[in-house]
Amino acid sequence: MSREPELPALWSHDPHVHLRFRTGDKVGDIETDATPGFIGSKSDAPVLQAERSMRLGELQEKLYANSRAGDTRSVLLILQGMDTAGKGGIVKHVVGAANPQGVKYTSFGKPTAEELAHHYLWRIRNALPTPGHIGVFDRSHYEDVLVVRVHNLVPPDVWGARYDEINAFEREIVDSGTSIVKVAMFVSLQEQKRRLAERLERPDKYWKYNPADIDERLLWPQYEQAYQAVLDRTSTDYAPWHVVPCDRKWYSRLAITELLIEALKRLNMSWPPPDFDVKAEKKRLANA
Ligand code: AMP
Ligand code: MG
Repeated sequence: MSREPELPALWSHDPHVHLRFRTGDKVGDIETDATPGFIGSKSDAPVLQAERSMRLGELQEKLYANSRAGDTRSVLLILQGMDTAGKGGIVKHVVGAANPQGVKYTSFGKPTAEELAHHYLWRIRNALPTPGHIGVFDRSHYEDVLVVRVHNLVPPDVWGARYDEINAFEREIVDSGTSIVKVAMFVSLQEQKRRLAERLERPDKYWKYNPADIDERLLWPQYEQAYQAVLDRTSTDYAPWHVVPCDRKWYSRLAITELLIEALKRLNMSWPPPDFDVKAEKKRLANA
């Protein structure tokens, strides 16, 4: 397997290759406490994370700068996972390192009455990143084939038709210049229990706790099936899924940082050239 020249020495494999979903992979086989491709240890994480966050910030600034010069491209990070998988932590620690000016964050909860009156992709379309931005979806249109499927919120033929529809939708987004990075985040039931228990122990975490999380947890077998169908049916060459083990937060953060860096690097950007005469401006400034 070829190593990305820039990838830090602590990775044996590129996360974007190594974590990519492959036909036949089973959700039930995911080792949620593993750290695939990483050969460092937890103690290496803080320094490496800081370093790679800076790199991510630099690439994001380049994306933003190029959009000011007319480049219409953007990046969309889609985070899907059960409660406590760490979606919020990715937003805070990975995306949080980027300049807020260039980030468009949206979390998708239970649809509002207005949203329900529209096609399910309506609210998604409205939240797509504009040129130069990194869009971040904390949950997404995939809820419409996950929670909706598990709770029978629409008939099977309706949600059943959505996989192809989502593929066509994402094709359209990619063709319009938005690179999609899809991340499915998985924690073990045991680790989820620990994290939920922590939310019940700490007043500063009550706000994250929702009694319904336990009901969803009990439905994991159904969710496992629904996640499997998502991976089997919507991992395309233009918008592949990445499966990230999330029992160790330091690992999932490092891995998703690399997935974003890779997506930005693939845009092959340089700094936009000046649209003014630098020499002449220096002279003017000297005399101003
Ligand atoms: P949280 O991300 O913890 O704020 O929870 C948001 C909740 O909204 C989760 O329980 C999701 O399953 C639910 N949700 C998100 N999208 C949809 C949807 N399209 N239909 C029904 N429920 C949804
Ligand atoms: Mg929640």
